[in-house]
Parts: sequence; C-alpha cells; structure tokens
Amino acid sequence: MKLIITGPPGAGKSTQAKRVANSLGVTSVSTGDIFRAHVRSRTSLGIGVERYVDTGTFVPDELTNKLIHNRLSQKSAERGFLLDGYPRNIAQATFLDSILPESEYGLDFVLLLSADDDELVSRMLTRAAQSQRSDDTKAIIGRRLELYQQQAEEVMKIYSSQGLLTCVDGGGSIDEVTERILQSVTQGADFSPVLR
Ligand code: ADP
Repeated sequence: MKLIITGPPGAGKSTQAKRVANSLGVTSVSTGDIFRAHVRSRTSLGIGVERYVDTGTFVPDELTNKLIHNRLSQKSAERGFLLDGYPRNIAQATFLDSILPESEYGLDFVLLLSADDDELVSRMLTRAAQSQRSDDTKAIIGRRLELYQQQAEEVMKIYSSQGLLTCVDGGGSIDEVTERILQSVTQGADFSPVLR
C-alpha cells in the first residue's frame, strides 16, 4: 500500500504517520525527520539543508526529490510506504508521479488530516514550549503555516481530481485519530483500490 499523509503543521501528521505505517506494515518516510537527522549528524546533505530547516523554508526540490527517489528505491519500501511531508508542491508531486511507475502500483490514498485553527495553534504553541526543534518558534510556525496554505492546496486539488484524497478529522486524542485514519483506509480499500 502506498500512502501520503498531509495536513497543516500541528495537525499531528508525524505522530499519526508512524502509528498508521506501523499498523499497515509499511515503511514511514518523513522528509522532515530525515533532514533533521542529517543536520544532527553533520552530513554534507545536513550542512546543505540546515539553513532551510532552521528557517522553515523549503529545501530545494532537486535535493528533496533525490532523497525521496533514493529512499523509495530501498528494499524496505518494497512492501509500500507512507510519505509524511512529501510532496509539498506541484513540482514534487509531478516528480513522485514520474518515479512511481518504477513500482508495480500507483498511490492508493492521500490522507488529509485536518484540525480547526484554534486547535492547530494551541497544539503548536504547546509543542513549541517543549520542543527541541529549531523551527518551533512563533515566527517560524507562522511561516510554515503560510507556506502550507499556499502550496498544499494546489497539490490536494490534483489528488482530489484523481479520486485519491481522503479527509480525516485530526481532532481528539491520538488514539482516536489513528483509529479514524485506519478506518477510512480500510473502508476506502474495500470500495476503490486504486491500482494503476
Ligand atoms: P512541518 O510540521 O513544519 O511541516 P516537517 O518536519 O515536515 O515540519 O518539515 C520540517 C522542515 O524540513 C521544513 O520546514 C523544510 O525546511 C524541510 N522539508 C521537509 N519536507 C520537505 C519537502 N517536501 N520539501 C522541501 N522541504 C522540506
């Protein structure tokens, strides 16, 4: 199964991505986590992307696409994957589309996790107070939200027109949201597996 999970910063997508991937037996691939790990280990990629990650701006598509291509070519992604944080713009979505035929099937689902604005802001401020993340400051949270709103909508339109988009309410406890996501994936899989 090949899935994408998306949603505004603060919607809980990273937490849910790991839980859902685990339940479905697929590998979870988070571009944000991978970039942060490279920054921490001071690899050449990490040194190159640090200024983007720290300021909440997009890493150049060329680097991000290459990273995804390598990651999805690994054996661990053969049984399927759940992408968290990718694709974030049309260029990335187009690139993903161009490499998917290398695998047998296309995407099965694009999950859009939503939460109301009050809940988003309050979750992000709570996380900012506890977080070690360099980009969890008030100013940079604002930039990440803005970028999300500008770019994600266009990407979602494409997936919606392909019948792949499933919206899931991200409100409530972590367990409730995981359950909701798994239910919509299972129901969707019964009705319309997208095999291309
Ligand atoms: P957020 O919850 O803010 O979306 P992420 O962990 O997904 O956080 O991403 C953190 C940072 O990593 C982004 O602000 C950006 O610098 C970089 N990044 C992650 N995914 C991508 C991507 N698909 N394209 C470009 N940059 C990315």
